[in-house]
Amino acid sequence: MGTILIKSGKVIDGTGKTAFDGHLFLKDDKIESVFQTDDALPESDAVIDAKGCVIAPGFIDMHSHGDWLLPQENHQEVLKCMLEQGVTTLVTGNCGYSPAPVKKETIGPLENFASLLMDKPFEYTWTSVAEFFDQMEDRGPALNMAMQIGHASVRYAAADTLHGAMTPGELKTCLDTVERALDEGACGLSFGLGYDPGMYSPLEELEAFCKVAAGKDKPVTVHLKALSRISPCYPITYLKPHNIRALREMLEVAKRSNVRLQLSHFIFVGRNSWSTASECLDMVDQARKEGLDVMIDAFPYTCGNTTINAPLPYWFLATLPKGYDSKLARMRLRLELEFGFRLVGFIYKDFQVMDSGVAGWEDLNGLRIPDIAEKWNISPFNAMLRLSRMSGGGALMLFHAYSGEPGNEQPLESVLTHDLCLFETDVILKSKGHLNPAGTGTFPRILGKYVREKKMLGLEDAINRMTGASAERFGIKDRGSLSPGKAADIVIFDPETISDTPSVGQAPAGRPKGIAHVFLNGFHVVKDGLAVDRPRAGRMIRG
Ligand SMILES: [Zn+2]
Repeated sequence: MGTILIKSGKVIDGTGKTAFDGHLFLKDDKIESVFQTDDALPESDAVIDAKGCVIAPGFIDMHSHGDWLLPQENHQEVLKCMLEQGVTTLVTGNCGYSPAPVKKETIGPLENFASLLMDKPFEYTWTSVAEFFDQMEDRGPALNMAMQIGHASVRYAAADTLHGAMTPGELKTCLDTVERALDEGACGLSFGLGYDPGMYSPLEELEAFCKVAAGKDKPVTVHLKALSRISPCYPITYLKPHNIRALREMLEVAKRSNVRLQLSHFIFVGRNSWSTASECLDMVDQARKEGLDVMIDAFPYTCGNTTINAPLPYWFLATLPKGYDSKLARMRLRLELEFGFRLVGFIYKDFQVMDSGVAGWEDLNGLRIPDIAEKWNISPFNAMLRLSRMSGGGALMLFHAYSGEPGNEQPLESVLTHDLCLFETDVILKSKGHLNPAGTGTFPRILGKYVREKKMLGLEDAINRMTGASAERFGIKDRGSLSPGKAADIVIFDPETISDTPSVGQAPAGRPKGIAHVFLNGFHVVKDGLAVDRPRAGRMIRG
């Protein structure tokens, strides 16, 4: 690999320190030295001219599901859009689901949800976290990957009770499994409380899990039980905003267990939830004042990925596939669904197809439900149901009206610019279909739109959140800043042009602008904005 001199750029070291004009000298997979402009420079095997550009540490995606792609042979191709937006490290194992530990007998229940996160099925040739790390390291990851252990995965692997309260013996086995996984290198523990089995877990169980993480000084990241004013996880008779209740419950669990808490994708789903944003941020501030080490993370878009069946009530899902043909069930569903949309503040136009999941229906990818209804000459309700049925519930969707909409992004902006907010993509990447724009544009959009255009964040502050502060959150010691001895994960970008290329109509978002070069463990993996075909240069990061 040898030596590389990155010359004459604006160095932003990731610690929040003011930028300075300088050069970076890389040797093999490490940063050898950082020079100010007037220092004498050493000879090097290669020189990169960074004139007019910022030299920063590689970005860290705080919330990725890339662990579900890694076991797959083509993962480098699917993940290259992350490198092209400057990301060198993924923090995975989110929303309660990690691909390890696993038990053969319960892979079915695990994959009920996890198959959504996979591009193609793969074989589980591991059971423990240690085996997963060893095998992925041997195969070579395309990016650096840290992984949390998922609460759902632990339960499926260690308890026979699939959901609801476990026996004391099962709980003990689960807690031992968490402890072992954290010792084997998992960087934290995640909960997916809006999904099975997390949604049915008593708060005492969550607290017991949190205490194990706290004992190992590892953070807990949480997909809250409710992310909107009304959610199926609480009784409809509970009239106050459900997302506020979910947040309060989790803050209390975290306080009781004294754990470092990271609130994942801090979003407000549906128009009627937006007005709760300031109260939720105040609650986080208040908890912080009371001594809880709590932070949040968010993506810079007013849409997010989920499935076609996400808004369908449980009673209807339980009738499937028969329910699709029952006139009575469909009638009740339509009433409830459209009433629910009104309560949450959704309209059919908010639902856009990413991947229809049906062979021959690729032309639907990128379309909104009313467009499909028009194409098929049926009602939007029937169009949604037909798509659900034909895809077996597997159609991947982009839901809009998350924390705002074009023209009204105030709730989103209040989150992104909050002092305690770090950045994430939460993207579900596939080798086909209409890509979530967060997959190509998250980090460039923050630097272009919120730093340069709107001046809502300082450049050094934004970079610190994307690098040093994110690394610190997960105890990643050798990355996230530019200093001698740190890993040579580097992004070189033009601060005057960096931006995402948004999606227009049915067409997906394009490659970002302004990312010139990316180095991953000293390998030049993005040249002039394009990922190059390289050996997989990532590392498994063990906590
Ligand atoms: Zn989630």
